[in-house]
Amino acid sequence: MSAPKIPLAKIGEFGLIDQLARLVKINKKEVIKGIGDDAAVLAASGGKYLLLTTDMLAEGRHFTRTMGPGGIGRKALACSLSDIAAMGGLAKTAVVSLAVPPRLNVHFVYDMYKGMQALAKQFHVNITGGDTIAYKEIIINIALLGEVEKQCLVLRSGARKGDKIFVTGPLGRSLKTGKHLSFVPRIHEARFLVKNFKPTAMIDISDGLAGDLAHITQTSRVGAHIYADRIPRVKGASLKEALYDGEDFELLFTLPPDDARWLVDLKKGRFDFTYIGDMVTRQEAVKLMDQQGKVISSVGGGFTHF
Ligand code: ADP
Ligand code: MG
Repeated sequence: MSAPKIPLAKIGEFGLIDQLARLVKINKKEVIKGIGDDAAVLAASGGKYLLLTTDMLAEGRHFTRTMGPGGIGRKALACSLSDIAAMGGLAKTAVVSLAVPPRLNVHFVYDMYKGMQALAKQFHVNITGGDTIAYKEIIINIALLGEVEKQCLVLRSGARKGDKIFVTGPLGRSLKTGKHLSFVPRIHEARFLVKNFKPTAMIDISDGLAGDLAHITQTSRVGAHIYADRIPRVKGASLKEALYDGEDFELLFTLPPDDARWLVDLKKGRFDFTYIGDMVTRQEAVKLMDQQGKVISSVGGGFTHF
């Protein structure tokens, strides 16, 4: 099958990824989950799966030099850690590819690595290699390997009608507040969930609540009702910002009703899980509801790169 001669912008980021997913042929014995989740899930021994994810940050798009090298390096690893969290796993090893302008000060790269290493230490990640090239702008790409016990794996595709939808923290204005440079990946929250409950679907919110909820509803073949007054917002964030701003890096997950009741009753205060809605039938699509259970609006997709 040959590809149509049309600009990428016409099919969009996810249209492109769909096409690429059809092109690659995978060995189903070795690959439990390939393209289409937060990380690839690979067969391994000892009752575990391997998890593999990669993220690329480019200067001018995800950061500017004025944001400071430590935060940039930290963010590069934090994005990948967030994807491992979304699978219910623990991170192990990272390799780091760097494109750097020859005129960039050595200090800048050194401080980027200091930021990255501090977070790596916090989450027991070993930085074990990478690649370096000269280029006119800074690009950082991190590939992160993790693992998860088979029974703890959570995909995007397991949500069922009647499941309750939760998020791990307030949403919106991440780029404006600087949260995108300092957020703590939700590994501990995810591990608490997979060890004590049975989440049916999970994703990290990188493209905005609306967009990432759509990834869950589409792969799980369900619809969703989310309640406007329940969506936790960062101080000063509007409902629109909470729904559509990217780079929150909170977890969005679903629980069966009994598990959800237990989670809500658990007032330990260790983690902050907020119930925001319910999974419904696919025909209902994704809708924003008011307190009286009336539909305010349909919720469209979130951020895409092109
Ligand atoms: P996330 O926001 O969780 O990092 P993305 O939206 O970037 O996930 O990607 C969605 C899925 O598409 C993932 O499974 C990812 O590995 C896959 N993907 C993205 N870009 C490519 C690519 N160029 N080639 C193959 N798979 C890709
Ligand atoms: Mg993700």
